[in-house]
Amino acid sequence: MQEYRYLFGPVPSRRFGRSLGVDLTPPKTCSLDCVFCQLGRTTNKTMTRKAYVSLEAVLAELGAWIKENGKADYITLSGSGEPTLHSGFGEVLQFIRSHSSIPPVLLTNGTLLHLPEVQEAASHAHIVKVSLSAWDQASYGWVNRPHPDLNFKQLIEGQKAFRNEFKGQMWIEVFLVAGMNSIPSDVEKIAALADLLRPDRIHLNTAVRPPAEDFVAPLSRERLASLCNLFQPPAEVIAEYKDKGGFEIQANQEEIISMLQRRPCTAQEIAETFSMHLNEVSKYLGKLLTDKRIRAQVMNTLLYYLADRKETCDRYNHEEAHEEKGITPSVSEKSGANAYPIRPTQLSQESPPEEVLKR
Ligand code: SF4
Repeated sequence: MQEYRYLFGPVPSRRFGRSLGVDLTPPKTCSLDCVFCQLGRTTNKTMTRKAYVSLEAVLAELGAWIKENGKADYITLSGSGEPTLHSGFGEVLQFIRSHSSIPPVLLTNGTLLHLPEVQEAASHAHIVKVSLSAWDQASYGWVNRPHPDLNFKQLIEGQKAFRNEFKGQMWIEVFLVAGMNSIPSDVEKIAALADLLRPDRIHLNTAVRPPAEDFVAPLSRERLASLCNLFQPPAEVIAEYKDKGGFEIQANQEEIISMLQRRPCTAQEIAETFSMHLNEVSKYLGKLLTDKRIRAQVMNTLLYYLADRKETCDRYNHEEAHEEKGITPSVSEKSGANAYPIRPTQLSQESPPEEVLKR
């Protein structure tokens, strides 16, 4: 099986079943620095659009994967940051459309959708899933910690403009964090904004995987479920990943690491993704832990495995070091990742679930 640099998975996705990921940015390049991000803190907070990785190399890998008869439910532009920052993401979507019957999906934070060229490029996706977890500039600041050039009004106007032209499905993911954006009166405000986008589906998510910041606490499933009817159409709580079966994927140690670099997973999820026995997965994980190539972290009573960030960065540091030059310095590095304060008034109104307090 060919080794891929820009493709990963198929990984288990609670929204998209088995999803082949296409990674268009070095870690971790994003216009936001969300407190709940499962990739950790943003190290390159930027609004600069450019070819962060070679478009030709990405298309060559996709072509090879399709030729190898690769199987997935969706091909998803996601990975180590915000995919619309890559100046060629529209060409990647068009390539998938013209070379495969697997629907392409764009997972985006929507911060660049006010740009006509980004709207045009995104229009080639079968599904565009945008994030919306705030309701005004202040909440945008403490939940998503945006690049200084971003403002919330522009975010909403950009997403509305895109929705008005887009013929595919538009989904919204609302990420709720205990004590930050989850009291019903605030969720109602998010729901009112979501309504303006006329979404096909709305998903409620919470920090079931290790987040960027330790203070981020998840909501219980029951709590999320109680908020679904505030949305129109009613939101769905993203179900835990269930394997659809039907095809086999063989994994080796590097493929497991490649997946863990983009998404913390439990041993069970790794076993389901690669159709491996749990004992076999445990052997791999034991060796990787011993070699200090991955680490384990308890989150929401489950044990997750994460790839060492250094390993992720090393992957890009050699060949693409020259491409990194000239990137806007990280705001989070310059000003500290906690430049936006958490919301102190809500913390006293709403306590994290008991299992989090026991961590
Ligand atoms: S959750 Fe998405 S938008 Fe937020 S910092 Fe992480 S990659 Fe960026």
